[in-house]
Amino acid sequence: MLLANLKIKDKSKKPDNMAKWKKFKHEPENIDCLHCKFQQAEDSIPIEEFTKIDEEGKQVTVKEITIIRGSKDDVLGWVF
Ligand SMILES: [Zn+2]
Repeated sequence: MLLANLKIKDKSKKPDNMAKWKKFKHEPENIDCLHCKFQQAEDSIPIEEFTKIDEEGKQVTVKEITIIRGSKDDVLGWVF
C-alpha cells in the first residue's frame, strides 16, 4: 500500500529559515553541537502517513501530526 503525504500542523508561522535555532552556528569540533541537534530534530519529522497499533491492538493509520516546538523554534516532538 502506498502511503500518502502526512498532514502536518505547525503553529510556527515563521518561514523555515527564520527559526531561532538556525542562528546557532555549526561547531565541527563539538560532538554536542546544538545546530546539529536541532537540525536532526527537524529532519526527524515524518513526511508520509504511518501506521501504529492503538490501545485495543488495532492497526491505525496516522494521517495528521502536530509539531511541538521549543523556545528556539526547535522540534521537541510531535503528537497525533
Ligand atoms: Zn553542527
